[in-house]
Amino acid sequence: MNRKIGSSSPRIELVIASTNVHKIREFKAMLKSNLRFDLRSLLDFPDYVPPPETGSSFEEIAKLKATHAANALNRWALADDSGLVVPALDGAPGIFSARFAGNDATDADNRKKLLDMMQHLLEEDRNAYYMCCIAVASPAGLKKSACGTCEGTLLAHEKGGGGFGYDPLFIKNGYSKTFAEIEEATKNRISHRRKALDKMIGTLDSIID
Ligand code: IMP
Repeated sequence: MNRKIGSSSPRIELVIASTNVHKIREFKAMLKSNLRFDLRSLLDFPDYVPPPETGSSFEEIAKLKATHAANALNRWALADDSGLVVPALDGAPGIFSARFAGNDATDADNRKKLLDMMQHLLEEDRNAYYMCCIAVASPAGLKKSACGTCEGTLLAHEKGGGGFGYDPLFIKNGYSKTFAEIEEATKNRISHRRKALDKMIGTLDSIID
Protein backbone atom coordinates (compact mmCIF):
# COMPACT_ATOMS: atom_id res chain seq x y z
CA MET A 1 0.00 0.00 0.00
CA ASN A 2 1.43 3.38 -0.92
CA ARG A 3 -0.44 5.77 1.31
CA LYS A 4 0.36 9.42 1.51
CA ILE A 5 1.51 10.40 4.97
CA GLY A 6 -1.21 12.39 6.67
CA SER A 7 -2.73 13.18 10.01
CA SER A 8 -4.89 10.02 9.81
CA SER A 9 -1.88 7.68 9.71
CA PRO A 10 -0.71 6.42 13.10
CA ARG A 11 2.66 7.78 14.11
CA ILE A 12 5.48 5.27 14.31
CA GLU A 13 8.34 5.54 16.75
CA LEU A 14 11.50 5.21 14.67
CA VAL A 15 14.84 4.96 16.45
CA ILE A 16 17.86 6.32 14.60
CA ALA A 17 20.29 3.65 15.74
CA SER A 18 23.26 5.92 16.33
CA THR A 19 24.85 7.91 19.13
CA ASN A 20 26.73 10.12 16.66
CA VAL A 21 25.17 13.55 17.26
CA HIS A 22 26.12 14.75 13.77
CA LYS A 23 24.46 11.81 12.03
CA ILE A 24 21.39 12.12 14.28
CA ARG A 25 21.07 15.83 13.49
CA GLU A 26 21.39 15.18 9.74
CA PHE A 27 18.79 12.39 9.80
CA LYS A 28 16.38 14.43 11.92
CA ALA A 29 16.69 17.36 9.50
CA MET A 30 16.17 15.12 6.46
CA LEU A 31 13.17 13.33 7.98
CA LYS A 32 11.52 16.29 9.68
CA SER A 33 8.89 16.82 6.96
CA ASN A 34 7.81 13.20 7.33
CA LEU A 35 5.02 13.56 9.86
CA ARG A 36 4.63 9.82 10.17
CA PHE A 37 7.71 9.27 12.27
CA ASP A 38 8.23 10.06 15.90
CA LEU A 39 12.02 10.19 15.79
CA ARG A 40 14.21 8.90 18.59
CA SER A 41 17.89 8.01 18.68
CA LEU A 42 20.11 5.78 20.78
CA LEU A 43 20.77 8.80 22.99
CA ASP A 44 17.22 8.21 24.28
CA PHE A 45 18.15 4.64 25.25
CA PRO A 46 21.38 4.97 27.23
CA ASP A 47 21.19 1.39 28.56
CA TYR A 48 21.19 -0.14 25.07
CA VAL A 49 24.49 -1.79 24.13
CA PRO A 50 25.05 -1.91 20.33
CA PRO A 51 26.52 -5.08 18.79
CA PRO A 52 30.20 -5.30 17.76
CA GLU A 53 30.51 -4.15 14.13
CA THR A 54 31.49 -7.51 12.72
CA GLY A 55 30.33 -7.15 9.09
CA SER A 56 32.69 -6.77 6.15
CA SER A 57 30.69 -4.20 4.15
CA PHE A 58 28.83 -0.98 4.93
CA GLU A 59 25.51 -2.62 4.05
CA GLU A 60 26.12 -5.71 6.16
CA ILE A 61 27.00 -3.56 9.18
CA ALA A 62 23.99 -1.24 8.67
CA LYS A 63 21.70 -4.30 8.60
CA LEU A 64 23.29 -5.67 11.77
CA LYS A 65 22.90 -2.34 13.60
CA ALA A 66 19.25 -1.91 12.54
CA THR A 67 18.08 -5.45 13.31
CA HIS A 68 19.89 -5.57 16.65
CA ALA A 69 18.47 -2.21 17.82
CA ALA A 70 14.92 -3.01 16.60
CA ASN A 71 14.95 -6.34 18.38
CA ALA A 72 16.47 -5.07 21.63
CA LEU A 73 14.35 -1.92 21.84
CA ASN A 74 11.19 -3.50 20.43
CA ARG A 75 10.73 -0.57 18.06
CA TRP A 76 11.36 0.26 14.41
CA ALA A 77 15.01 1.21 13.86
CA LEU A 78 16.95 2.95 11.11
CA ALA A 79 20.72 2.48 11.08
CA ASP A 80 23.41 3.82 8.82
CA ASP A 81 26.92 2.63 8.30
CA SER A 82 29.03 5.07 6.39
CA GLY A 83 32.55 6.16 5.67
CA LEU A 84 35.08 7.54 3.26
CA VAL A 85 36.64 5.40 0.52
CA VAL A 86 39.92 6.38 -1.13
CA PRO A 87 40.53 4.07 -4.12
CA ALA A 88 44.25 5.00 -4.28
CA LEU A 89 44.61 3.75 -0.69
CA ASP A 90 42.97 0.41 -1.53
CA GLY A 91 39.63 1.66 -0.20
CA ALA A 92 40.87 2.92 3.19
CA PRO A 93 39.59 4.15 5.57
CA GLY A 94 36.35 2.44 4.35
CA ILE A 95 34.36 0.59 6.99
CA PHE A 96 37.04 1.57 9.52
CA SER A 97 36.46 5.31 9.00
CA ALA A 98 35.28 5.99 12.55
CA ARG A 99 38.24 4.22 14.16
CA PHE A 100 40.86 4.69 11.44
CA ALA A 101 43.52 5.98 13.86
CA GLY A 102 42.51 3.62 16.68
CA ASN A 103 39.52 2.62 18.77
CA ASP A 104 39.47 5.87 20.76
CA ALA A 105 40.48 8.09 17.84
CA THR A 106 38.84 11.48 17.40
CA ASP A 107 37.74 12.81 14.01
CA ALA A 108 40.86 15.01 14.06
CA ASP A 109 43.10 11.98 14.72
CA ASN A 110 41.49 10.14 11.79
CA ARG A 111 41.94 13.09 9.43
CA LYS A 112 45.58 13.45 10.45
CA LYS A 113 46.26 9.78 9.73
CA LEU A 114 44.55 10.10 6.35
CA LEU A 115 46.51 13.26 5.46
CA ASP A 116 49.77 11.52 6.39
CA MET A 117 48.91 8.51 4.21
CA MET A 118 47.96 10.74 1.28
CA GLN A 119 51.18 12.76 1.30
CA HIS A 120 52.74 10.71 -1.48
CA LEU A 121 49.61 10.68 -3.69
CA LEU A 122 49.46 12.38 -7.07
CA GLU A 123 46.76 15.01 -7.60
CA GLU A 124 44.64 12.62 -9.69
CA ASP A 125 44.81 10.01 -6.93
CA ARG A 126 43.10 12.31 -4.43
CA ASN A 127 39.68 11.16 -5.66
CA ALA A 128 37.48 9.73 -2.93
CA TYR A 129 33.86 9.03 -2.21
CA TYR A 130 31.63 8.85 0.79
CA MET A 131 29.45 5.79 1.05
CA CYS A 132 26.37 5.40 3.21
CA CYS A 133 24.19 2.33 3.61
CA ILE A 134 20.94 2.59 5.51
CA ALA A 135 18.91 -0.31 6.86
CA VAL A 136 15.44 -0.24 8.39
CA ALA A 137 14.19 -3.02 10.63
CA SER A 138 11.15 -3.76 12.74
CA PRO A 139 11.24 -5.94 15.87
CA ALA A 140 10.40 -8.84 13.51
CA GLY A 141 13.53 -8.33 11.40
CA LEU A 142 15.13 -6.48 8.49
CA LYS A 143 12.76 -4.65 6.15
CA LYS A 144 14.95 -2.88 3.61
CA SER A 145 18.41 -1.50 2.94
CA ALA A 146 19.85 0.91 0.39
CA CYS A 147 23.15 2.67 -0.26
CA GLY A 148 24.23 6.01 -1.68
CA THR A 149 27.57 7.54 -2.65
CA CYS A 150 28.95 11.05 -2.96
CA GLU A 151 32.02 11.49 -5.16
CA GLY A 152 34.67 14.16 -4.71
CA THR A 153 38.32 14.95 -4.00
CA LEU A 154 40.38 15.36 -0.85
CA LEU A 155 42.40 18.45 0.03
CA ALA A 156 45.92 18.28 1.48
CA HIS A 157 44.84 20.54 4.37
CA GLU A 158 41.66 21.10 6.35
CA LYS A 159 39.16 23.83 5.47
CA GLY A 160 36.01 24.82 7.35
CA GLY A 161 34.62 24.34 10.83
CA GLY A 162 31.28 22.63 10.13
CA GLY A 163 30.32 19.05 9.41
CA PHE A 164 32.16 16.16 11.06
CA GLY A 165 34.52 13.31 10.29
CA TYR A 166 36.41 13.88 7.07
CA ASP A 167 34.25 16.85 5.96
CA PRO A 168 37.03 19.50 6.31
CA LEU A 169 39.00 17.57 3.64
CA PHE A 170 36.21 16.60 1.24
CA ILE A 171 35.01 18.65 -1.76
CA LYS A 172 32.13 17.15 -3.71
CA ASN A 173 32.62 17.11 -7.47
CA GLY A 174 31.21 20.30 -9.00
CA TYR A 175 31.67 22.31 -5.78
CA SER A 176 34.51 24.56 -4.61
CA LYS A 177 33.97 24.36 -0.85
CA THR A 178 34.48 21.47 1.54
CA PHE A 179 31.55 19.79 3.30
CA ALA A 180 32.78 21.60 6.43
CA GLU A 181 32.37 24.99 4.70
CA ILE A 182 28.93 24.59 3.14
CA GLU A 183 25.63 24.97 4.99
CA GLU A 184 24.41 21.79 6.65
CA ALA A 185 21.12 22.15 4.75
CA THR A 186 23.09 22.07 1.49
CA LYS A 187 25.05 18.99 2.59
CA ASN A 188 21.75 17.33 3.49
CA ARG A 189 20.50 17.84 -0.09
CA ILE A 190 23.54 16.37 -1.83
CA SER A 191 25.19 13.90 0.56
CA HIS A 192 25.65 10.14 0.42
CA ARG A 193 23.26 9.94 3.39
CA ARG A 194 20.60 11.88 1.45
CA LYS A 195 21.01 9.61 -1.58
CA ALA A 196 20.65 6.45 0.48
CA LEU A 197 17.68 7.87 2.35
CA ASP A 198 15.97 8.90 -0.92
CA LYS A 199 16.11 5.26 -2.04
CA MET A 200 14.43 4.20 1.21
CA ILE A 201 11.91 6.91 1.77
CA GLY A 202 9.62 6.12 -1.15
CA THR A 203 9.03 2.68 0.24
CA LEU A 204 9.20 3.34 3.96
CA ASP A 205 5.47 3.94 4.23
CA SER A 206 4.59 0.75 2.42
CA ILE A 207 7.14 -1.17 4.49
CA ILE A 208 5.62 0.10 7.72
CA ASP A 209 1.97 -0.39 6.77
P1 IMP B 1 30.01 4.60 11.53
O1 IMP B 1 29.38 5.42 12.62
O2 IMP B 1 30.61 3.32 11.98
O3 IMP B 1 29.06 4.45 10.37
O4 IMP B 1 31.24 5.45 11.00
C1 IMP B 1 31.03 6.63 10.34
C2 IMP B 1 32.36 7.35 10.14
O5 IMP B 1 32.53 7.60 8.75
C3 IMP B 1 32.34 8.71 10.81
O6 IMP B 1 32.86 8.65 12.11
C4 IMP B 1 33.20 9.54 9.88
O7 IMP B 1 34.56 9.31 10.16
C5 IMP B 1 32.89 8.93 8.52
N1 IMP B 1 31.73 9.61 7.89
C6 IMP B 1 30.53 9.06 7.57
N2 IMP B 1 29.71 9.97 7.04
C7 IMP B 1 30.39 11.11 7.05
C8 IMP B 1 30.03 12.43 6.65
O8 IMP B 1 28.91 12.74 6.21
N3 IMP B 1 31.01 13.36 6.80
C9 IMP B 1 32.24 13.06 7.30
N4 IMP B 1 32.61 11.87 7.71
C10 IMP B 1 31.68 10.90 7.58
